[in-house]
Parts: sequence; C-alpha cells; structure tokens
Amino acid sequence: MKLIENWFSERYSDNLQLSFRVKDQLLSVRTDFQRIDVFDTYDFGKLLSIDGTVQLTERDEFVYHEMITMMPFVYSKVKPEKALIIGGGDGGAAGELAKLGLKRIVNVEIDGQVIEVCRKHFPDLVRSFTLENVELIVGDGIKYARTTEEKFDIIIVDSTDPVGPAEGLFNESFYKDIKKILNTGGVVVTQSGSPFYQPTAIGLAHKGMKPHFAKVKSYTAFIPTYPSGFWSFTMASDHDIGKSYRELPAGKYFNKEISASCFSLPEFVKTLIT
Ligand code: SAM
Repeated sequence: MKLIENWFSERYSDNLQLSFRVKDQLLSVRTDFQRIDVFDTYDFGKLLSIDGTVQLTERDEFVYHEMITMMPFVYSKVKPEKALIIGGGDGGAAGELAKLGLKRIVNVEIDGQVIEVCRKHFPDLVRSFTLENVELIVGDGIKYARTTEEKFDIIIVDSTDPVGPAEGLFNESFYKDIKKILNTGGVVVTQSGSPFYQPTAIGLAHKGMKPHFAKVKSYTAFIPTYPSGFWSFTMASDHDIGKSYRELPAGKYFNKEISASCFSLPEFVKTLIT
C-alpha cells in the first residue's frame, strides 16, 4: 500500500473512497495470505488495514468487538463457558470474551503475521492472548472446525471479507462443521459486511447458515470506519434468538436497548436475505 500525500484511502467503489489523513505509515508487509498495513491517523489513532480495507482503529474498535461478543453471550441459552473465535488475530474479540468471564477461549487465526503486527502496534488488544484461559492457534479456521473434537457454547467468525482465505468461512459446508461443534443452546455469529457496499455478504451468511440452524438473524451496528458506517452481523442457533436474555452490564456501545433494537432491519436489507 503506497501512501500518497499522507492519506490512506479505502476504496468502496470505482467512484468512492474513505480517506484518513495520516501522521505516518508504521508498517506495510505482504504475508503468504494478504497485505497488512498500519497507519497512525489523526482522527482514529492507529489503524490496521488488510488488503486495503480497514480492520480496526483504536478509536472505534469497541463497537465491533462488543457487538460480535456480547450479542452471542446474551442470547446463548446455555451459560457460555467455552468459546471459539475464528480469525480475530488482533485479540479484540478474545479480550471482550475474557471480560465476560468465559472459562476457555480458543482463537484460530490463519495469519501469524497479523498477530505479530498487532503485538507491536495494538498491544492492549493482543494482551488477551497471554491470558491463561485463552489458547491461540495459528491455522485455518475452516480446517479447525472440520477436525476439532471440542465443542463450544459460542462460536465467533471474526474474519476478513468473503474473499481469499475467508471465502470458505461463508460456505454452507463450513456451517455444517460449525453445527457439529456448537453445544445445544449455543450461538454462532459472523460479521457479514456492509449491506450497502457489500450487499452479497449478508446473503451469503444466511445461505451458509440456514440449512443447518433453525434460526438465523442479522443485526447491525454503527461502525464509523467501515464502509458506509452501517455494518451487519449474522447469528444462528437452534433456539429462538431474542426470547431468552442473559443480563450483562452495558459496555461502551452495547446495552440492553441496543441488543433488541439492532435486529430491526431496513427494508432494503431484508430483501438481501430473502
Ligand atoms: N474486524 C475485522 C473486520 O471485520 O474487518 C476483522 C478483523 S480480524 C484482523 C480478521 C482476521 O481473519 C484476519 O487476521 C485474517 O487473517 C483472518 N482470517 C481470514 N480467513 C481466515 C481463516 N480461514 N481462518 C482463520 N482466520 C482467518
């Protein structure tokens, strides 16, 4: 990623991009899987980008990480004790789950260099990987889901967009494996992209999950640095999501009102998943 006149831009289409004025480019590396860049931006602090797309910034990562962890936690029918995270090499999701008191968290990230980069530039997030109850595995989450004999109460797919190594994380065969390793009463959730700029991702998530789970529901959150700021997540279970609720103190974004209202979808989003 070449820095032009101290701006980093993520392209949403041929005609639109979001630009961050940056103080410095801190790193740029090509790994076996993807290109990783870290920028020090004026408005959002440090920013991690993979293949030119924003993964997280110091200022707004809390929204994504709370919404991908607290939602499955409150809607799991069993008291969650064991969780699996696929992707999430920045450690943010593992950190939030650890705060929720889970006994065991397994995090499978395909690209060891994402972890190393984050260790240097986002130490507060990656610190979760040093916790006693967190096991970090560098490997393909698709293969892990197919081969592990362990079962989990919460499974979080904290992945990049459905291209390259993450493409298979939206497939029906992947969710067949996920179903086998999800405990009864548990919940699986995936990030499912920007309904406006990546309209196929949410549909792919539904298509992958529906053959294997009785209930599939999408919810949204406001994440300023993701395309359009309007982001979706999709969760699945065999119980009625939304009927039971496990009390949880509010986070910085998440609260009880949001946990219910975030399921209200605009009409154009509903058409993407039907
Ligand atoms: N919050 C982010 C977002 O939605 O933009 C996701 C952040 S996290 C850094 C995404 C991670 O998923 C990347 O580090 C990537 O290497 C990892 N990943 C992609 N495909 C994977 C796979 N098949 N197995 C495990 N990890 C994978």
